[in-house]
Amino acid sequence: MTTDHAFPAVRMYIAGEWCEGGTGATAPLVDPATEEPIGTVPLAAPADLDRALAAAEEGFRVWRATPVARRTAILHAAADLIAERAPAIARVMTREQGKPLAEAAGEARRTAGTLRWHADDARRAYGRIIPAEPGTVLTVRREPIGPVAAFVPWNFPVGGPNRKISSALSAGCSIVVKASEETPATAMELVRCYADAGLPPGVLNLVLGEPAEVSAHLIASPVTRLIAFTGSVPVGKLLAAEAGKVMKPSLMELGGHAPVIVCADADPVHAARKAAQAKFANAGQVCTSPSRFLVHESLVEEFTAEFVKAAEAVTTGNGLTEGTTMGPLANARRLEAMQRLVADAVARGAKVLTGGERLDRPGYFFPPTVLTDVPPDAEVLHEEPFGPLAPIVPFDGLDEALALANSLPYGLAAYGFTRSAATAEKLSDALEAGILSLNHCGGSVHEAPSGGVKDSGYGREGGPEALDAYLVTKRVSHLLVP
Ligand code: NAD
Repeated sequence: MTTDHAFPAVRMYIAGEWCEGGTGATAPLVDPATEEPIGTVPLAAPADLDRALAAAEEGFRVWRATPVARRTAILHAAADLIAERAPAIARVMTREQGKPLAEAAGEARRTAGTLRWHADDARRAYGRIIPAEPGTVLTVRREPIGPVAAFVPWNFPVGGPNRKISSALSAGCSIVVKASEETPATAMELVRCYADAGLPPGVLNLVLGEPAEVSAHLIASPVTRLIAFTGSVPVGKLLAAEAGKVMKPSLMELGGHAPVIVCADADPVHAARKAAQAKFANAGQVCTSPSRFLVHESLVEEFTAEFVKAAEAVTTGNGLTEGTTMGPLANARRLEAMQRLVADAVARGAKVLTGGERLDRPGYFFPPTVLTDVPPDAEVLHEEPFGPLAPIVPFDGLDEALALANSLPYGLAAYGFTRSAATAEKLSDALEAGILSLNHCGGSVHEAPSGGVKDSGYGREGGPEALDAYLVTKRVSHLLVP
């Protein structure tokens, strides 16, 4: 067992100081491409969490009183540092999460853009003046909600934490963020950019620990005013219920099982190429990843052939190696899930056209996998795969495809391919999803909101809606005394 000394030592960041947990407890950190340990993760004790909460309370007082122009300047300076350090951040990310370096660097650069968008948008968090009785001034103001407790997963190690941090800070809130214990060093490098940009101590605190203990502690504390979570549906429901018990609002960005409907009039080659590109990005570990491919029966042969070609063109390997286009899965749980879902589908009669078995080498590598003849009761058509599995299912009529697409409790992303404006409108109207892409499978953009319906959660990140959860609306009616 060797520890990689080139990898940064992981620390928490509380009240403007880098620190280890008070009890000295740690968890191992593993490189998913080698299964070798690369460091240890400090785990917060309740006293550490209390320090973070006290710091966030004081940080909120300071930050809220800081003029918005000054806040924006600090946030822009942080964005500049994230962009400048993107190659270094990417290296840390690839080591602990596995995604190819180019993908990791792209994520870091986009993160700087997201921060700039939020920082600028905060300058437009206008209230309004409402016509009222003479002698009365009736206004609506938007104020920061207060200290935020945020919990983020491991699939976007810099973009994920930053969505919460940049929204909270832009709105004038302070934040205690628990990053994933599987990607803590990337979160640490992100926080370092904010700290180096001159953010006052206590405004941003990073903690790590046993997830259930940390979330229970931070949610129950009277200091926190908003709970923001990205992750799985079961954990999201648990945290939303805990928040409900103490009457706190929550922002829930949960899982999905995105349908792709390829209509009879679509170009099957274009659809297959776009869908495959999105499917294998981040090894399929994306909440909006296309994951149920519903293809009109007249196109299914051509679509499948092109999709398999694209899957086989993917180079699976260590993300640090030049030419790798898909890294390992981020942890052993995902690898086990891929094996279980494929075995279940095959046992029920599905065919594996390519992939299907973990690579015979160390690391959590599972290749792009295409399944056909998948029966409706196969688990892969119901459970979010969160990995590089692509089940292809033919359909006859569009209403049948829409019913299938909407049949799950999820409602995050959906995709449609058609050349007909009327069909595009029908898809836009009928699909139960918070995010719909037509004739492409592009990712999220800073300017537009992302979020789900049904079990996929509530609240929006991105776009002008991003700050809504972090602001409260206050009505002030002021009778002018003569
Ligand atoms: P999981 O349900 O064990 O955990 C999901 C995330 O929540 C992890 O980051 C974990 O550390 C955190 N978590 C777990 N229990 C928690 C608690 N009590 N309090 C606070 N945080 C807690 O799943 P996993 O094995 O890490 O990931 C697999 C599943 O999670 C996927 O199938 C997918 O549905 C979902 N997921 C979704 C996203 C997303 O972007 N929406 C990201 C990562 C994972």
